[in-house]
Amino acid sequence: MREIQNKIENADAILIAASNGLSISEGYHLFADNPAFRELFSDFRTKYGIRCIIQGMTYPYKTEEETWAFWSRLITRYVHSYTPTCQMKELKKIVGKKPYFIITSNAETHFEIAGFDSKKIYEIEGTLIEMQCAKACHKTIYPVTEMIEKMAAAEKDGLVPSELVPRCPICGGSMQLRYGFSPSFIQDEDASERYMTFIDQYYNQKLVILELGIGAGNRLIKEPLMKLAASGRDITYITINKGEIYIAGNIKDKSFGLDGDLTDILAELSSALS
Ligand SMILES: [Zn+2]
Repeated sequence: MREIQNKIENADAILIAASNGLSISEGYHLFADNPAFRELFSDFRTKYGIRCIIQGMTYPYKTEEETWAFWSRLITRYVHSYTPTCQMKELKKIVGKKPYFIITSNAETHFEIAGFDSKKIYEIEGTLIEMQCAKACHKTIYPVTEMIEKMAAAEKDGLVPSELVPRCPICGGSMQLRYGFSPSFIQDEDASERYMTFIDQYYNQKLVILELGIGAGNRLIKEPLMKLAASGRDITYITINKGEIYIAGNIKDKSFGLDGDLTDILAELSSALS
């Protein structure tokens, strides 16, 4: 912990990378048939046989009224009703006033709600607060917050009213969340560019990569970051995860692995720094 503390204190910048493990530690569990899932989606569970959020996200509902009922209920609970957790507060203390950037596949926009700058976040698989044409007939990204609020208020028996189902303003077809399940997914080019600019700027400086809750085999974020750590002169790679720490052999001299609960480890790290 002392060595990690020194690395963070002396860093020119911090790159935070986060995936499911962080969401799970905050109570948003995509894969569990847990009490939170059963409470929110008991009717969907019975009607469609879904056993976790991810199954609900990918279920082939017959109507858009059902699809949007699922999403509006999910987004209301995990985005609109979210209040920043201890993990986020500790993380903000750890970053302090240092330059930072966040790359995440979590989509629930918790970093943004917790007060991190949205211009310094790259949601690599999209977000739950935006939608696009399902056929990607044009590349405009639309906000959904107001629409979701109306849907959630009007949802009845697992259906939203037909008049609230959005249509593409160009082709008249379906809209879908801009969230990485479909081949028509529209990438956020601006955020991707800001991320690359950050990497270019700090690649040859003292950069600390702080990885939170990313599975050992993750190819989307973890693998590229381990390659980045290997090629940069002064990059430190810190991975925090519960029961699943993996550090590639070629970066082990510049890496730290902390196995345990993110809530506890972030609190410990933050108090070591202050
Ligand atoms: Zn369209």
